[in-house]
Amino acid sequence: MVKKVCIITSSRADFSKMEPIYLGLLSQHDNYEPHLVVSGTHLLTEGGSTWKEIQEKYDIAAKVITVVSGDSYESMAESVALGISKFTSIFTAIKPDYVVVHGDRFDALSVAIASSLLHICTVHVEGGELSGTIDGSLRHAITKLSHVHFVCNKRARSRLMQMGEDPDTVMITGCPSYDRYATLDSSEEAIKAACAKWNVEPKKFVLITHHPDTVNPENTVKEFKSILDFVREVPERVLFFYPNIDPGNKSIISMLQKHREGHLHLYRDKVSVLSHVPFDEFALLLQVTSCIAGNSSCVVREACFFGTPAILVGNRQEGRDMGKNVRFYNAPNERKLVNVYSEIKGVKFQPQMMYGAGNAVRHMLDFLSRHEFPSSRKSFNDDARTMKCYLSPRTQSTDGKSETPRSYPLHASAAITGSVDTELSRSGADPLFQLSKLGTH
Ligand code: UDP
Repeated sequence: MVKKVCIITSSRADFSKMEPIYLGLLSQHDNYEPHLVVSGTHLLTEGGSTWKEIQEKYDIAAKVITVVSGDSYESMAESVALGISKFTSIFTAIKPDYVVVHGDRFDALSVAIASSLLHICTVHVEGGELSGTIDGSLRHAITKLSHVHFVCNKRARSRLMQMGEDPDTVMITGCPSYDRYATLDSSEEAIKAACAKWNVEPKKFVLITHHPDTVNPENTVKEFKSILDFVREVPERVLFFYPNIDPGNKSIISMLQKHREGHLHLYRDKVSVLSHVPFDEFALLLQVTSCIAGNSSCVVREACFFGTPAILVGNRQEGRDMGKNVRFYNAPNERKLVNVYSEIKGVKFQPQMMYGAGNAVRHMLDFLSRHEFPSSRKSFNDDARTMKCYLSPRTQSTDGKSETPRSYPLHASAAITGSVDTELSRSGADPLFQLSKLGTH
């Protein structure tokens, strides 16, 4: 039976991952009927109206406006509420067998809430990673609402194990955006054309992309000030991207505007402020920039794939796996950003495939074809070692006889029965006493 799949993309940040999955599903049209649903910042002018770029290439099944305007936590929370309502209608109309959602954004949370409440098998891409902001909590919440997990590396998988996900539903596939980069036409001509279009020369320009830090808004301002100093001091040409729409963006956009008014000549001769460069061109520029700076995910994820020198500013990507190509800069700092830049600009680092090997989609399709996943009930996979002191191997049943708790998977129960007895008899501790001390029953 052909399975319907809704692929949700809500911003350019996830599209580089969703596009290869969509194409992979399309290529297996005997098995899958993919529906591309475009929402979130794709549909906003300030987000670069990126839906147009998608529409030029693909059929869009639905465009869903989910962003409540405003530069605040409230508008973010309200966007989640609006998204739940809109995605519920979309999924009810399309009736997909799977919903594929990516990452850690508030848009993705509303997708996962709607699809899991509708008992649709929810496939989460890139769970188990750490984000330095509220996005980290959202990512883990989406994990708990999802039924299948495609993760980038062992560390991410191990975090999902800590969160009680069933190992049989987790697959290390790598990042699907690497599939796209691995097949991108990166010929000299393609790079030359992209450089000509954006009026830059290879190794003689800087990319800057910096977004608000939603946890520490005061840091955003300090970081942006260092970045504006850098823009003034760096001798090379600069392609400077507008921040995303997260709370705090208004204050940094107004800093940028003031800076521009105070240094008109700079912005005329050296600096271009851009909303969006098309996906493939951006990837080509990233390969030949002398450095990318800021706190965008591509500073850590994509730059390492190409071995591009990168400066990560601030904590927005805190906890992420990073390559040797990345220097960390915490603003304000006695050292100037431009000094860090002069140490690494133009250095050719070895590409590091820490988020995948460029064959993620093949693994995903293979995994989906081999398994049936429940879309309603999820089991919680207790970690036997962590749980052993809380679980008596002989839990009292109502008739006074002992029984092994039935809800634990066999291997966990076996470990509990095996080790708790020995440990307890050695320490003389009473597990029930420990339970009551913790206030648990
Ligand atoms: N990107 C793009 N064109 C641009 C800027 C970014 O195609 O002009 C893509 C790029 O593939 C990158 C992703 O958008 O991986 C990152 O997006 P962004 O910095 O907006 O968000 P983040 O992932 O940091 O939330």
